Amino acid sequence: MSTDADFIVIGAGSAGCIAAAELARRGVGRVLLLEAGPSDSHPLVKIPFGLVWLMGSKRDWRFKSKPQKGLGGRQLNVHRGRMLGGSGSINSMVWFRGRRDDFDGWNVNGWAWPEVEPAFEAVEAKLQPNQMIGVHPLVQALSGLFGGNANEAPTPEYESAGTFRFNMRAARRWSAADAFLRPAQDAYDLKVRADSEVDRVEFDDGQAKRVVLIDGMKLNASRGIILSAGSIGSPAILMRSGIGPAAHLQELGIAVIHGSNEVGENLHDHPAVGLHFAGPRSGYGLTLSQLPAWALAPFRYLFTRKGRFASPTVEGGAFFNARDDVGEPDVQCHFIPFMVDWKGSRFAHGSGYFADVCVCRPKSRGRLRLTSADPNVAPDIDLGLFQDPDDVETLLAGLKRLRALMNKAAFGKYRAPEAFPGPDVSSDEALRQHIKNRGATAYHPVGTLRMGERTAPVTPRLAVAGVSGIWVADASVMPAVTSANTNAPSMMIGYRAAEFISEDAA
Ligand SMILES: Cc1cc2nc3c(=O)[nH]c(=O)nc-3n(C[C@H](O)[C@H](O)[C@H](O)COP(=O)(O)OP(=O)(O)OC[C@H]3O[C@@H](n4cnc5c(N)ncnc54)[C@H](O)[C@@H]3O)c2cc1C
Repeated sequence: MSTDADFIVIGAGSAGCIAAAELARRGVGRVLLLEAGPSDSHPLVKIPFGLVWLMGSKRDWRFKSKPQKGLGGRQLNVHRGRMLGGSGSINSMVWFRGRRDDFDGWNVNGWAWPEVEPAFEAVEAKLQPNQMIGVHPLVQALSGLFGGNANEAPTPEYESAGTFRFNMRAARRWSAADAFLRPAQDAYDLKVRADSEVDRVEFDDGQAKRVVLIDGMKLNASRGIILSAGSIGSPAILMRSGIGPAAHLQELGIAVIHGSNEVGENLHDHPAVGLHFAGPRSGYGLTLSQLPAWALAPFRYLFTRKGRFASPTVEGGAFFNARDDVGEPDVQCHFIPFMVDWKGSRFAHGSGYFADVCVCRPKSRGRLRLTSADPNVAPDIDLGLFQDPDDVETLLAGLKRLRALMNKAAFGKYRAPEAFPGPDVSSDEALRQHIKNRGATAYHPVGTLRMGERTAPVTPRLAVAGVSGIWVADASVMPAVTSANTNAPSMMIGYRAAEFISEDAA
């Protein structure tokens, strides 16, 4: 039978673009990359501020979580990019590897810090993340909080604050699609098919052989298939393909190829909650006096690559210990020098800023399950938020310390008073209620196909356990979320996947 490719990669996100490009570069044969969404050639994808409009657009999967018990039954938006570049095409481009001991703590053979570091370096050689130029003065003021200097980006390794690093080039988004995919398409045997949503993978005698698209079209892979559809997409595709908890698959009428109880388990994200500040002449916002600046913003961006359109909204932040100032950081703060609404509308009137605090190593776990064998029906996404009370207590302590830090920062004439929840909300009980009412996530879901030994659904070499010819390369394989934003670690995983697969499939 003729084949459509030697390797088919499913999902052109942060990890999938790199896995496909690196497989092609290593000369493994014909590589075909399938992406459910459209191309990323849209001005809003390239302009850093564009993400404000991309979230909730047709380039977002627009998933909703199950009602969360820990949030009084609220459902959360689970934003996921749906185009070339994946979530890396709608994210804020904040760049952190994570903490070294995050990887040691995974306790997976071959994934300790010295083993992952070279892959980070290889990825960074192309992405060239750097501190943002032209940050708002409010963000510049953060760098004094722990005695660092303005040229030093904060790090989760110790208490620090200031301007973050971003994967932007010349004030434009520079995603895995830009840095890896397009150059590899020109140079190697790599084809990309956008608008090709995958339903499932088919197996012959336990060997992954072909991919079925939702319109029924089948594409054959002679040597292997790589799942890079992300922490929501990859476990869903695997379950529809017959690999997952056997009883759950049988309930939905899916023939079981291999029973694997942990598929879809271990779903977790960084829980977060924030403080809103509002006052005249503070951060960017919609006010009469700022109207001329907004009107000029597109032209300023076009001709100088500066101004508010060059901002990915989050410009900086901090890592600190929630409970005292001598421990290791256990919370991260994202600082947005824009007025962020707290009443439910996307654009808020007034001038102000926003700072959140999120738990670096959450203990709560949820899970992902299918609701139907039909790929057009969204899965059940239970983020399990605050199932472990320790996460609430860390956020509570973190909020208190965040308040103290915001009071201490030398914001000068840009300082604004806390507007929500407001300084009167200060007792532990009231702050716990604020966490319940307003808690959300940082859009970093991981862990649904954790790699590991024995019962883990994915092996340390990223092969799906119990079958052959299929691997996973995306954020779903992380046994535990890293201590900061997850894009760089996802890319590192994509890079290592290509290393492993090119060696193991030989
Ligand atoms: C709004 C937002 C802001 C964020 N900000 C940051 C940040 O500033 N810094 C940071 O480090 N991290 C950030 N993140 C998280 C980061 O972007 C992700 O952790 C990372 O992109 C995950 O990479 P991935 O390869 O696992 O999945 P993704 O990049 O999501 O890629 C999965 C790809 O698979 C495709 N796909 C899914 N299902 C199918 C299917 N059935 N058929 C075909 N294709 C399919 C998707 O369309 C997508 O292109 C943010 C995320 C979001 C949503």
